[in-house]
Amino acid sequence: MGLDDDAREYHREEPPGKIEISTTKPTNTQRDLSLAYSPGVAAPCLDIAENPEAAYEYTAKGNLVGVVSNGSAVLGLGDIGAQASKPVMEGKGVLFKRFADIDVFDIELDQQDPEDIIRTVSAMEPTFGGINLEDIKAPECFEIESRLREEMDVPVFHDDQHGTAIISGAALINAVEIADKELSELNIVFSGAGASAIATARFYISLGADPENMVMCDSSGIITEARADDVNEFKREFARDVPGGSLADAMEGADVFVGLSAGGIVDQDMVRSMAADPIIFAMANPDPEIGYEEAKAARDDTVIMATGRSDYPNQVNNVLGFPFIFRGALDVRATDINEDMKRAAAEALADLARQDVPDAVVKAYGDEPLQFGPDYVIPKPLDPRVLFEVAPAVAEAAMDSGVARSELEGQEYAERLEA
Ligand code: NAP
Ligand code: MG
Repeated sequence: MGLDDDAREYHREEPPGKIEISTTKPTNTQRDLSLAYSPGVAAPCLDIAENPEAAYEYTAKGNLVGVVSNGSAVLGLGDIGAQASKPVMEGKGVLFKRFADIDVFDIELDQQDPEDIIRTVSAMEPTFGGINLEDIKAPECFEIESRLREEMDVPVFHDDQHGTAIISGAALINAVEIADKELSELNIVFSGAGASAIATARFYISLGADPENMVMCDSSGIITEARADDVNEFKREFARDVPGGSLADAMEGADVFVGLSAGGIVDQDMVRSMAADPIIFAMANPDPEIGYEEAKAARDDTVIMATGRSDYPNQVNNVLGFPFIFRGALDVRATDINEDMKRAAAEALADLARQDVPDAVVKAYGDEPLQFGPDYVIPKPLDPRVLFEVAPAVAEAAMDSGVARSELEGQEYAERLEA
């Protein structure tokens, strides 16, 4: 049987799906039940009515994330609708649980209009400690996320935008160091101007890249000032006063290529036209803009290459981010996942890649040597240390930037995470 049939079988096996609810308190006796429900439950209800923060003490809110989608941009499958997106959203819940012990309700909304989605999600604030928006298409995703961040008092994070930005940002921090370049001087070319590319470009600026040195391409080529009136406001942010042209034109002399577009659109000549020791993040899934081997073989100098693929070095996999970012945010009851917290996550990931890798992790990845260098600029997704590095860094950044509603002492928190 191929992977498709195996996956059907995996999901179909009784009980259907891959998640269920379980209880965390005794439910054996009549008395237990009168504590869990009426009449006993009235006491915590009244406490919360008096002080809403008490919800974190008395309910599962503080460890519960809503994974919300309308199914409009699901994986690489496109607009397959809310119902068809449910296996993906349940799967996201599995990853939250597996990597950070966070519980998830997956919420599939049969809604297209951003206003409807904003109203629905913000009305669910009492339920959740945080909201992970998922697989909502651009450009609507930008407005939906920014409005919800404003309106809600719990963190709202659109993973398709920021996950890639943060993890490839970590890779960039380290690649720049290895290539002995200056982030602020890099010429960076983006292929793609959708959800992930716009967010990634914005994040690289927040890491120190110069927006004047960035050029973005969409399916019609370079986004120039001449095209600015014909593109949406998010692309317009990256319209530059440069001659029009193709992606190949844009890549000439560039230090960094960031692909968040479509597979197979970059060839070896384009790689050869880049500056010395180029950095190539070809992250289209499932097929990168150019393959790892093809890019490496194009030149004799050092090509630092990352893709979305698990079978090559430097896999940019969102699972390195969202479980631990939410872990840190939930643990200090953060009201937001802000820029400082995102930067802290990227820096923690970058820093972890510079440390020695435990044998168990090396073994899990087939005994290939894992040592800081061109083929290891970000940690591996199954490295258990990621939790202990990223969650505390995010929690600390939340406290320092004033969005934490509760304080955690570093050492105590580290011990709690390891328990
Ligand atoms: P999106 O919002 O649909 O954006 C896709 C962008 O790519 C659009 O701007 C589109 O141009 C552009 N594009 C499509 N075909 C192109 C071509 N032949 N040449 C140049 N540009 C082209 O999608 P997204 O969510 O940002 O994702 C984009 C890609 O990145 C997908 O392959 C996705 O799987 C991948 N991705 C990977 C990761 C990872 O961690 N590895 C994370 C997120 C996304 P127009 O605007 O002109 O239509
Ligand atoms: Mg997604």
